[in-house]
Amino acid sequence: MSNDDARISTDQLAFVNPVDRFPEISPPKQHQEEPGLQRDMAPTPDIGEQSYRGTGRLEGRKALVTGGDSGIGAAAAVAFAREGADVAITYLPAEERDAQHVAQIITDCGRNAVTIAGDLIDPAFCTEVVERAVGDLGGLDILVNNAGKQVATESLTEIGDEQLEETFHANILAMFRVTRAALAHLPAGSTIINTTSIQAYQPSPTLLDYASTKAAINNFSKGLAQQLAPRGIRVNAVAPGPVWTPIQPSEGQPQEALPEFGQSTPLGRAAQPTEMAPAFVFLASPESSYVIGETLNVNGGSPTP
Ligand code: NAD
Ligand code: MG
Repeated sequence: MSNDDARISTDQLAFVNPVDRFPEISPPKQHQEEPGLQRDMAPTPDIGEQSYRGTGRLEGRKALVTGGDSGIGAAAAVAFAREGADVAITYLPAEERDAQHVAQIITDCGRNAVTIAGDLIDPAFCTEVVERAVGDLGGLDILVNNAGKQVATESLTEIGDEQLEETFHANILAMFRVTRAALAHLPAGSTIINTTSIQAYQPSPTLLDYASTKAAINNFSKGLAQQLAPRGIRVNAVAPGPVWTPIQPSEGQPQEALPEFGQSTPLGRAAQPTEMAPAFVFLASPESSYVIGETLNVNGGSPTP
């Protein structure tokens, strides 16, 4: 699908009320094993397949998006391709079918899609991801550290060492490792965008391990931003509120919480993943050249520090 293809609806870009731009999501109770497949969710999340229209803001850029098979990462990957970038996505081997769906959209934009399956808990894979992306894209100038693990537990005593370590490895240690490996390749003008969360400031009592990693991501982003600014590499973060993605029905929330998911935000509804995409495009684009060390909150109106 090219950028001017008539199948991309422009209706959603018309003057709209954000309250009902998307129908309120009241997902039925449902459960999948982690990491979950987007294609098996009800309702299906909107990653912008029919709506995101690019305007050439990332022409010729080369992006790596971890966890780009589904949800927020997939929405960013689709938007980047529509804006003119070649895109590599990483995902877990069980997510191959979601990844192929996203790769097809990127290819339909006339861009190069690179798919890299593996587990970011493995330190060696964190380096391999970067080397493969650089090799297959012919360079790298946008890194989105977005992969994340979220498992809800009622009590601290239920968080075993395995879950604790996997959550910290996947969410924050992998971010250090992937970014460290990428630094050898990122030229001046590159951008790094880390996905944090409103959980960084408003931790749910059922997400102690996950929320701690999100606070660490905010802190890492602001510190690294100062270190890399003189090199012309900008680091920023995006902090989503509640977004309807596979992370939620695959242990991320108690099943009984799903029907009301996101309804306590000022906007009154959960987000669709595609509503996160413009934040990533803004931070990746040279238009945001003076925006450094910022956390862009995209959360339906919840106050943030
Ligand atoms: P998602 O399930 O679609 O994406 C998460 C991705 O992380 C998975 O697709 C998977 O490929 C990847 N991943 C998880 N563990 C991995 C591992 N060990 N190795 C490699 N990859 C792994 O869900 P999402 O909500 O789009 O999540 C994307 C990011 O957004 C995460 O960092 C999440 O914490 C963050 N976030 C989500 C929400 C929300 O409400 N959905 C809110 C705030 C922040
Ligand atoms: Mg996925």
